[in-house]
Amino acid sequence: MESLVHEKEKIYFTSSVVVSALIYIGLAVSVVGLFYVALGLLVAVVAQGMLMGGIRGNSIRISPQQFPEIYAITEGLAQKMSVVPTPDVYIVQAGGLLNAFATRFLGRNFVIIYSDVFELAYRKGESELAFIIAHELAHIKRKHLIWRIVLMPAVFIPYLSTAYSRACEYTCDRFGAHFVPQGAMGGLLVLAAGKKLYQHVDSAAFESQVQSETGFWVWYAEIFSTHPNLPKRIQAVRQQIGAAPVTSSSATAAGI
Ligand SMILES: [Zn+2]
Repeated sequence: MESLVHEKEKIYFTSSVVVSALIYIGLAVSVVGLFYVALGLLVAVVAQGMLMGGIRGNSIRISPQQFPEIYAITEGLAQKMSVVPTPDVYIVQAGGLLNAFATRFLGRNFVIIYSDVFELAYRKGESELAFIIAHELAHIKRKHLIWRIVLMPAVFIPYLSTAYSRACEYTCDRFGAHFVPQGAMGGLLVLAAGKKLYQHVDSAAFESQVQSETGFWVWYAEIFSTHPNLPKRIQAVRQQIGAAPVTSSSATAAGI
């Protein structure tokens, strides 16, 4: 599975480790710096505790009784990907937002899926949802959640932490496309067009926007972003799985 890791993740990870180590050493030497590190950690633990407390208190946890099909898919993927133990998965109603994320609190991993993404599974989009779950499990497998905290000082180097984050996203797309190739293109198109319209998107035309939508501002907006631009992610998974670009007519006829 090591071959699925994007080469840029390794480069930006190493750079972030070097920068963070130097900053930690500087803080330790100044002694008072350690106080700020401890304070920052305390604030982070409280904020994360509040977030996870709210989610666990209000959201639906999938289980053998609750959405058993998706529970089985998650268990199966976690086994194949050697993610042990399988993280708890919660469905969050988020007013139509399309998102999913992996998170961690006090040593436990969680996958949070917004209900509009989860609905895919019940709209013939089971593979797309499985791709998204595999992507989130990859974040856990690669320990991105732990490193995000440890490498926090890297934010002091402009654009480094977002570049590392984007490389991690490419890695997780690769894991997702490796384990659920049939859901990869659709799983990403959902993020661009929504849970219904995605089946009608001409993915070849969307992918060609990598060449047509260029220039300073497109580049500048992306270097601040934690996620790569969607047409680039779609191009990367299509090249990985060797799929032909899907045109709108075939997409409508066959689904994705
Ligand atoms: Zn991700």
